[in-house]
Parts: sequence; structure tokens; C-alpha cells
Amino acid sequence: MKDKVSLVNKVPVKCGPSCYDHRVPPDFGNGGFISQVKSFFAKLFDTADWPARWHCGNWSDFHGWLYILSDIAIWAAYFAIPFLLFRIISKRKDIPFPKILWLFIGFILLCGTTHLLDAIIFWWPAYRLSALVRLFTAIISVFTVFALYRLLPMIYRLRTLDELEAEIEERKRAEEQSRHQQVLTKAAEDLMAKKDEFMSIASHELKTPITTVKASLQVLERILAQNDELAVIAPFVHRSSKQINKLTSLIDELLDVTRIQAGQLQLHKEDFNIMKMAAECVEQCQSVDGMHHVTIQGDENLTVFADYNRIDQVLCNFLTNAFKYSPEHTLVEVNISPVDNGKIKLSVADRGIGIPDDKKDNIFDRFFRVENTSHKYSGIGLGLYISSQIIAAHGGQIGVTDNGANGTIFWFII
Ligand code: ADP
Repeated sequence: MKDKVSLVNKVPVKCGPSCYDHRVPPDFGNGGFISQVKSFFAKLFDTADWPARWHCGNWSDFHGWLYILSDIAIWAAYFAIPFLLFRIISKRKDIPFPKILWLFIGFILLCGTTHLLDAIIFWWPAYRLSALVRLFTAIISVFTVFALYRLLPMIYRLRTLDELEAEIEERKRAEEQSRHQQVLTKAAEDLMAKKDEFMSIASHELKTPITTVKASLQVLERILAQNDELAVIAPFVHRSSKQINKLTSLIDELLDVTRIQAGQLQLHKEDFNIMKMAAECVEQCQSVDGMHHVTIQGDENLTVFADYNRIDQVLCNFLTNAFKYSPEHTLVEVNISPVDNGKIKLSVADRGIGIPDDKKDNIFDRFFRVENTSHKYSGIGLGLYISSQIIAAHGGQIGVTDNGANGTIFWFII
């Protein structure tokens, strides 16, 4: 065996296979636990109780240096890792769970220190210090395991890079879509504004000549009524008169929309008997239609405080729609009944084509028509919109429900 004196400080220690040769008599106070602890800390850096590791057992140079250099390499790496972790934490504030990284840093540093001490012990047998460092390493290791275990559920929930990338892609697509939607909405609004402007100008411009034609036709009808010789042209004049009335109500609708858009729908409220109003309205509308049977039911003494002409307009719209969208000779029922808070409910039920459930929400929108049926009937989808605005201006409610298997019930409450 090689003499280690040449390798360790030239201190003449005796070297042997069991190291017992070197041991000085132990001094643990009275030998109890507390006195052992006290003695341990008092002699923390005292190495007199052991020989340097070179002298403990039989180490060849190769074996000893293999041990020492490996420990130093492990220590160097263990000290480098925390520096890298520290750099990551200080540069990337978005790193999840930074606290556990601090625990890792402490744990790795202490592990490295145990290896450094293991190498140093070849010359400086500080076994007490080594035991203390190991204790600290054990404590921080247990804490790290515990903290890591508690974090596991959150770590499992962390999204993977692929998932994050997919989410970012999805968000980009949604933003793109929303931007596209905004452009479309803006374009639609601009178009609507232009349409409103055109409607306003056109209806105002058309109103005057049509009023003149209507007045002239009325004069002609009066002359025809008094003159039998002109009977041959009477049907033409009546037909023209009918068409002019249609045109007038169309222009009135357009003018109403213009007023509503401008917030200029004015009400002239008064108390009136709603039954009477309904009866007059039914008579007037029926004289134009003449193909349906209409009944009116309800309390004859009910009065309301509202704009007579506007409520008449709403009922007239309900009735003309009921006539238009139900087969000839079917029944149309008008019902008037009192509801809570002194209000009244007026409804018009028909036995017509009905309205699909998915269209009911839009039925009071401007220019809305039920696509698959509307092309068979004339109209521009403004009547119900105007009606809903009139009822809203009265602070009332308007709605539509199914009339059993066939037809609809349009109603309002004011
Ligand atoms: P218009 O009848 O001129 O198209 P409205 O605003 O009065 O305009 O009605 C809007 C749409 O509602 C109509 O195009 C029609 O599709 C539907 N509708 C209205 N009333 C009825 C009804 N009584 N039965 C079935 N569909 C109706």
C-alpha cells in the first residue's frame, strides 16, 4: 500500500484498513442525547476525531481521484444549474410556479455542497459539518417533494405548447372574423342609412303628386256617380282609385318609417271607446277585402287613452295581414279584453298559413318577411315594424302566438 503522507499535508497519520488506529478517545460529555448534540455543535469544525479519508482504508491514487474529481464535477454542475434557474426566473416573469423553482435552487445547491464536502474530506475530515449539510439537504428535499406533490394537479392542468398554439390560432381566427363582421356590419349600416335617406326623399316626393291624383279621382268618382252616360268608364276609375289607395298606404308606411327613424313619431292621445274604434276599422278593412268573415268580441264599454289613428293603424295592419295570409272565407276573430292595471288586450286571430317558430323573434323587424311564403304575397315588411313602434311609443307590448294548429294570433296590450 502506498504511503499517503506524501499526499496529505505531510501530517504523519497512521493509515490502516480500519482507521481505528487513528481514533482518539471519544468525548461526548455524559453520553446522553442532549450532551451528544451539544458536543456535536461545539466541535462542528473539529476534525481531530477522524483521519483524512485518504488515510481511512486503502485508496489507490486512481480510486481516490476518481472519487474526488467526480464529486467536484457533480458539485460544479449542481452549482451551475441554480444559476441558470435563477437567470430564467429573473428574465421570464411569466414562468409558472416560481416558488417551487426557488426550492429547487436551494435543494440543488445543498446537494452540490454535500458532494464538495465529500471531496474535501479526503484532506479535511469535517464529518460533523458534512452531517449538518446533509440534514439541511434532507429537510429541503422533503419540502420540495411536498411542494411538488401539491402542485401536481395544477401542473397537469397546464396547457401544452401545442394546445397554446392552437388556442392562439383560434383567437386570431375569431379576431379576424370579428373584424370582418364589423366591416360587414358597418357596410350594412351605411347601406341602411342610404336606403333610409332614399326612402325619405322618394316618399316625400311621391306624396304630393299622388295626393293630387287621388283628389282628382275622387272628383271623377263623384261626377260618375251623377252621370249615367259615363258608366262605361266607371270601372276604370274605381280600379285606378283602388290602386292609388294602395300606393298611398305604401307611401304612408315609408313616411312613417322615416319619422320613426328620426324619432318624430308623435302621438295625439285621447280617451276613446276601443270597441267602437275596432268595429269601424273592421268595417273599413272588410270593405276592401270582402272575402273573410270577421267577428268582434269583448266588453263594449272599454275605453283607452291612446292615439286613435295610430291604434286604428295597428289594428288595420293586423287585419289586412290576417286577410292576406289566410285562405278566403275563413274566420278572423277580433277579441278585446281588460288586463291588469286598467290596460286592455286586443288580439286578431286568423286561420292562415301561420309563422314558423324560428321566425317569430324577427317578425317585428324592419323589412322582415318570412322568406318561403312572402314571395306569394305583396308587401314590403314594414307594417308590423311600424305597429311595434306605435305600441312601444304607447308603453305597451306587442306579440304573436300560434292559433292552435293553423294560423296566428297577433296581439297588443296598451
Ligand atoms: P308585409 O305583410 O307587408 O310583408 P308586415 O310587416 O305586415 O309586412 O309583415 C311581415 C311579415 O310577417 C310578412 O311578410 C309575413 O311573412 C308575416 N306575417 C304577418 N302577418 C301574418 C299572418 N297573419 N300570418 C302569417 N304570416 C304573417
